[in-house]
Amino acid sequence: MGEVLVSVKNLVKEYPREGGVSRVVDDVSFEIARGETLGLVGESGSGKSTVARMILRLIEPTAGAVRFDGVDVLGASSAEMRALRQRMQIVFQDPFAALNPRMRVREIVGEPFEIHREQGLGNREQRKAGSREQGIWSGRDRDLRVGELLREVGLDASAMERFPHEFSGGQRQRVNIARALALRPEFLVLDEPVSALDVSVGAQVINLLQELQRSRGMTYLFISHSMPLVRYLSMRIAVLRQGRLVEIGDCAQVCEAPREEYTRQLIAATPVIQA
Ligand code: ADP
Ligand code: MG
Repeated sequence: MGEVLVSVKNLVKEYPREGGVSRVVDDVSFEIARGETLGLVGESGSGKSTVARMILRLIEPTAGAVRFDGVDVLGASSAEMRALRQRMQIVFQDPFAALNPRMRVREIVGEPFEIHREQGLGNREQRKAGSREQGIWSGRDRDLRVGELLREVGLDASAMERFPHEFSGGQRQRVNIARALALRPEFLVLDEPVSALDVSVGAQVINLLQELQRSRGMTYLFISHSMPLVRYLSMRIAVLRQGRLVEIGDCAQVCEAPREEYTRQLIAATPVIQA
C-alpha cells in the first residue's frame, strides 16, 4: 500500500433503542491509500452510509478515530474542519434529493465557491488575488468556472441556466458530481452514486467517475450493495456485514478467492454488469 490518505480505526456507532443500544457500526478499521479506490460493499442496512458519514464527520462516532492525511478528523476544530471539508466531498445516492429545486445549476455548482469565500478559506495568496481582481468571484468568472466543471462531467455549459427538474436522473447526478468537484477535493466518498439510476445510465456515470479519478488523481471510497459494480471500480474491497468488517483485500483476492462464506453469497447474489 502507498501513502495512507484516510485511516479509520475501531469505529463504532451506537443508537439508543428501547431497552438498550443498537450497534450499527462495530469496530471497523481500514485504510485508503492516496489515489486508490476502496470499495465498501454490503447489504442494505449493513452500515455503509453510517461509516461514510462518520469519516466526513457528518455524524459523530460513538468511539474510534478517523485520520485524513494525518489530521485527526474527530478532534479537528471548526476552522480545521472547514479546511478539511474542501478536501473531502460526498456524492449521495439520490441525485434529486441532494439538489435544491429552486436553485439554478449555476448556483448549485457555484455555491461551494461562495461558501468558501464567505468563510475566508483558502490561503492568503488566494484571498489577496480574489480581492485584488474582484475576482475569481465575480459573476462572469464564476460562470466560467461553473462552465468548466459542467463540461468536465459531460454536460453542456448551457445547463447552467436550468433547474434540477429539467434534467434526467443521470444528468442530475452529473450536476452533483460537478458540485462535489468544485473545490478540487482529494477524496470523494461515493455513496451508492448510481443505485437510483437505470443500469446503462449508471454505467456511463461510473465511467465518468473513473475518468475523473484518472484526470484529477482523486482517492475514492466507493460504496455499493452491488458486488459486480464494486469489483468493476475498486482496487481493494471491504465487505461489511451487520456493522462489522468481515473481509478486506485486493479486488481479485476478494472476488476470486473470498475468505468468508458471506462474501461468496454476496458475489453469487448479484448478476454481472457490463459497464
Ligand atoms: P447502509 O448504508 O449499509 O444501507 P446504514 O448505514 O444506512 O446502512 O444503516 C445501518 C443501520 O443503522 C440500519 O439498521 C439503520 O436502520 C440504522 N440507522 C441508521 N441511522 C440511524 C439513526 N439515525 N437512528 C437509528 N438507527 C439508525
Ligand atoms: Mg446507505
